[in-house]
Amino acid sequence: MHYDVVVIGGGNAALCAALTAREAGASVLLLEAAPREWRGGNSQHTRNLRCMHDAPQDVLLEAYPEEEYWQDLLKVTGGKTNEELARLTIRDSAQCRDWMRRHGVHFQKPLSGTLHLARTNAFFMGGGKALVNAYYRSAARLGVDIRYDTPIHTLELIHGQFVAAHTAQGERITAHACVLAAGGFESNLPWMREAWGEVNGEWPADQFLIRGTRFNTGTLIDFMQRAGADMIGDPSQSHCVAIDARAPLYDGGICTRVDCVSLGVMVNRHGERFYDEGEDFWPKRYAIWGRLVAQQPGQIGYAIIDAKAIGRFMPPVFPGVKADTLEGLADALGLPRDAFMHTLNNYNAACREGTFDHTVLDDCHTEGLTPAKTHWARSIDVPPFTGYALRPGITFTYLGLKTNADSAVHFAGQPSENLFVAGEMMAGNVLGQGYTAGVGMTIGTTFGRIAGARAATAAAGQSQTHTRGAA
Ligand SMILES: Cc1cc2nc3c(=O)[nH]c(=O)nc-3n(C[C@H](O)[C@H](O)[C@H](O)COP(=O)(O)OP(=O)(O)OC[C@H]3O[C@@H](n4cnc5c(N)ncnc54)[C@H](O)[C@@H]3O)c2cc1C
Repeated sequence: MHYDVVVIGGGNAALCAALTAREAGASVLLLEAAPREWRGGNSQHTRNLRCMHDAPQDVLLEAYPEEEYWQDLLKVTGGKTNEELARLTIRDSAQCRDWMRRHGVHFQKPLSGTLHLARTNAFFMGGGKALVNAYYRSAARLGVDIRYDTPIHTLELIHGQFVAAHTAQGERITAHACVLAAGGFESNLPWMREAWGEVNGEWPADQFLIRGTRFNTGTLIDFMQRAGADMIGDPSQSHCVAIDARAPLYDGGICTRVDCVSLGVMVNRHGERFYDEGEDFWPKRYAIWGRLVAQQPGQIGYAIIDAKAIGRFMPPVFPGVKADTLEGLADALGLPRDAFMHTLNNYNAACREGTFDHTVLDDCHTEGLTPAKTHWARSIDVPPFTGYALRPGITFTYLGLKTNADSAVHFAGQPSENLFVAGEMMAGNVLGQGYTAGVGMTIGTTFGRIAGARAATAAAGQSQTHTRGAA
């Protein structure tokens, strides 16, 4: 069958595109690489999206105006953002939730311990898994055809126009228009290895854990780059968190996060500290620790806390390694005891404790220590002591396709008439580097819906041309 619109991918952006194209009257086929039980890409692991609002709105507290949202994006990206597309995303975030609800997504009030996001982010009831399930149900009800286990290998393009998609098995699938929404390339370990390269005789990417799906292999990012599409973003940039070293290689999700770094110290496998653990609030700093750990020998770090920290952070899913003495903890973690004790003794001696308050940038700091700990520095001296081994956990990559307000794929600066892109495959246009929690789902929802609408319009135009041509 020849479809009006084919959507490649099976996460949030793809589903938003498929639903919108179908609502506009197009016949739609969605092609998901994963089997049904693993459908939904990284979107199944999410919890919320960031929404602008000028006054309190259902689950969102206070106000989060456009300008503040824009300034937040400007800050985290260091200016690597397209203002037109960023503001389009921000404005759309004010009104997309009614559409989401119509397709079965429910929101809930934030629980405590959710990284201070109650004002800015709307949380999905049941998390991202419930969101993608709701969208799949809605898609089936509306008559979107869905095929699982169908990774697309290449596209057939003529002068930048989409003609057909080819599966890895060589099947040819034609449509009037196409939306690419196949995520980043973070699950492609050889590509990650090449992008991060060799450092001091080690290949850092060999130790990476992928927080989300194993199906985001970047096959189509690579194909489109070779096909001459205009690209955006740096392949070596990725959102990278330090996560429990015991997490599985793929799909560990959010429960592998360990959020106690700012309450203690972090050492490398030589037992040495390497960065200011109290530089800023954890929600603003958690995403730098993946890269910091990736730069350490063996790409491993150890978060060390004492009994005073327990109960002050979200407990990780796996218990930490515990000991009644710091020497015992060094042994249990396999760290060199003398070096570890030297670090901990120096740190404890350097702590200048004022009034500890983890909710503000308090006055507890170290003196005469390199690197300093600038806030929440309290000596680690109350047993039991706990340690967590941490590895770099990759959330997503930034390399993608350049686009415009119509979500069109570009070739040599020219927008394609029937090939569109959404979600992580183009997020680099808005988020050239850095991250602010919840913006990934906002970008996917905005550009998924734009891409779906434009693809339906392009398909309608093409089918009219064909009908006229046949008459
Ligand atoms: C643990 C974790 C927690 C996160 N939490 C949040 C959060 O709370 N809020 C937020 O905004 N963002 C969060 N993110 C980021 C968020 O997941 C992404 O920004 C967002 O899901 C991207 O949506 P997408 O549809 O572009 O990609 P994905 O949801 O990853 O979907 C990509 C889809 O493409 C399919 N695919 C890949 N290659 C092919 C191919 N060749 N052919 C066919 N199909 C293919 C995959 O199987 C998958 O279904 C989180 C990410 C992770 C990993």
